[in-house]
Amino acid sequence: MTFTADDYAHRMQRAAQVAADKGFAGLVITPGPDLVWLCGYAPPAATERLTALIVRPDAAPTLIVPALERGDAEHAPGAPALSFVDWRDGVDPYGIAAPLLDANGRYAVSDNAWALHLLGLQRTLPGTGYTSLTDGLPMLRAVKDAAELARLAAAGAAADATFDGILRVRFAGRTEHEVAADLDALLRRHGHSQVDFTVVGSGPNGADPHHEAGDRTIEPGDAVVLDFGGLLEGYGSDTTRTVSVGEPSPELREVHDIVRRAQEAAFQAVRPGVSCEEIDRVARQVIAEAGYGEYFIHRVGHGIGVTTHEPPYLVAGEQQSLVPGMCFSIEPGIYLPGRFGVRIEDIVTVTADGGQRLNNSVRELQIVA
Ligand code: ZN
Ligand code: ZN
Ligand code: ZN
Repeated sequence: MTFTADDYAHRMQRAAQVAADKGFAGLVITPGPDLVWLCGYAPPAATERLTALIVRPDAAPTLIVPALERGDAEHAPGAPALSFVDWRDGVDPYGIAAPLLDANGRYAVSDNAWALHLLGLQRTLPGTGYTSLTDGLPMLRAVKDAAELARLAAAGAAADATFDGILRVRFAGRTEHEVAADLDALLRRHGHSQVDFTVVGSGPNGADPHHEAGDRTIEPGDAVVLDFGGLLEGYGSDTTRTVSVGEPSPELREVHDIVRRAQEAAFQAVRPGVSCEEIDRVARQVIAEAGYGEYFIHRVGHGIGVTTHEPPYLVAGEQQSLVPGMCFSIEPGIYLPGRFGVRIEDIVTVTADGGQRLNNSVRELQIVA
């Protein structure tokens, strides 16, 4: 299953249209996920040499590339819909870009565009203005088509298989780094080409939601937060389960059950037309009513697609309505400083009449050795 030149042409056309509807003259896209999504082109790295895709409603999309990378760019799957403009070292690339831009236009620009390049464009065309894609066109990539959903489902299934595998390894007496290496190997064995994170938060480390993995030796009785994901065929996985090393304490059982109920309640609230913030509120209410409200210290979720963190964000204040085809995490947690943390995370997609989980591994508290 690959995306065709037609798929990319469609995405670029729609992007130009959405940009025009919001009053933008177009989009300026630099290497990274937006460029991959729009035209399938991923240069080896974003560098000091300007690569930029200009998408506008009134002209064919144009890819500005360093001359030495033009050959690669012409092989991108979206290339048939592109015009190419190359530039050689010693030439001012922003002067090359200038005739492709409206001198007084406002552009939506990739969040990760280098300041070097954006400042170069502003210096050359002082009348232009720029807004980040996340601020200007946050929902551009948010609604996935059928082929994208299939890839996200495959990534989710691979993450589930990874969790099944990690339940069989030894935890007690090994370091977080060792278990993280097991997670990395399992994700790759199940088809991931890239691993973005392997969080192993044991005991008190689990109370830091973004603790990755450290040298702490895991002990019997620990709760261990496992949050892992990456890219499979270009689409992301991101799932969290919390396990108990040996018999859990009554308190761990209780806290885990509250988080599981919060996650389930938020999932049950998913349907078209409900706001993003409502999903966050539903999860938060379950945790607050159980008396742990102050220990749920982050938003309940984030979108996922060609990256593992992107709009829509499920957070207080986000009034965007859910639309069929959106994909995002639901990941409530409770973090007890100095003691332990619990988080449960699934990727969920919005269907015509509710939500569907793309992670289906067991959510009851699992005991590991
Ligand atoms: Zn995160
Ligand atoms: Zn995660
Ligand atoms: Zn996440």
